[in-house]
Amino acid sequence: MSVRVVARIRPLLKLECAKDTIVEGSPAGAERPGSPTLVRIPNPKNESESFSFQFHGVYDQEATQQEIFEKEISPTVKHLFGGFDVTIFAYGVTGTGKTHTMRGGKSLADRGVIPRLLSAIYRRSRKIEKDSGGETSVEVAMSYYEIYNDRVYDLFEAPEKRTAAGLPIRDNGGKTVVVGLSERTCWTLKEFEQLYDQANVNRSTSATKVRHLVLDRLNAHSSRSHAIVCIKVTQTSPTQTRTSTVSAIDLAGSEDNRRTDNNKDRLVESASINKSLFVLAQCVEAISKKQSRIPYRESKMTRILSLGQNNGLTVMILNLAPVRAFHLDTLSSLNFANRTK
Ligand code: ADP
Ligand code: MG
Repeated sequence: MSVRVVARIRPLLKLECAKDTIVEGSPAGAERPGSPTLVRIPNPKNESESFSFQFHGVYDQEATQQEIFEKEISPTVKHLFGGFDVTIFAYGVTGTGKTHTMRGGKSLADRGVIPRLLSAIYRRSRKIEKDSGGETSVEVAMSYYEIYNDRVYDLFEAPEKRTAAGLPIRDNGGKTVVVGLSERTCWTLKEFEQLYDQANVNRSTSATKVRHLVLDRLNAHSSRSHAIVCIKVTQTSPTQTRTSTVSAIDLAGSEDNRRTDNNKDRLVESASINKSLFVLAQCVEAISKKQSRIPYRESKMTRILSLGQNNGLTVMILNLAPVRAFHLDTLSSLNFANRTK
């Protein structure tokens, strides 16, 4: 059971101004293995001072989608095929690049972690099948759901078909399952991408619109739900069947939701976002400190993920915006992540 926490600082956006840049990272240089990888940010109370935070890796504005995938995600594919579960989180404030990191853009270079992961999984599957002379076969199945206000919704279902209460979860032989969650087998990357794109339409909002960043932080449904892609890989040989899953989670925005609004619905939402992120932090902390008790049962998300239960591997990508407008939120993200390692 292990966890890697890495920071990724996104580039300035068109509407942001270079002189407002306050977050600095010293990137994980391949030429200096094991060297400190730091993020530095001024103390909001006294800007002549700054705080430094150390991570397992830091990626600055220059880091490409390919680099993030190759350094952080590609190594997990081996574990997955070795029968272990993998969990990948993107954590951060709305507008810092979580969806960009996980889903990414349309062009090949812009593709994010999830499509690249699937591509790597298919490549490895075909190789295993070929190397075994056809004795072993690999099946890839996908489910995709979101957790909103502590309720689970299937993203393969159109929003108008949802029941308000969402899907129930049940304990089933030591595993927590979402009852009625659909699962689709996909045999090719193309098939996967069709399903994924279609399901993303059901997640009301896609990437945060830059011009409306502030508005989006108040209103975007997508910034208030956790979206979880779950890929189940089943390897069947004449002697055994082995199943493992990788879950990739675009988390709800970690901004201080209490500041955004004070209506009642919003308060219910923030309470449930805050609680699930809090429990997530506690679980990741317990895993990284090798504690025997991981409080994964305390929230629906960590319970469904059985976080830390199956000798798995967890990668947490902390997304950060480099500019002053995010100062306090960035600091609280850094403090959150700092606790977890
Ligand atoms: P979040 O999902 O955390 O709210 P988004 O992924 O929607 O944030 O990113 C906000 C904006 O910043 C989008 O316009 C996105 O395209 C852009 N962006 C984020 N990260 C990067 C990056 N590494 N390179 C280029 N643009 C980025
Ligand atoms: Mg997003």
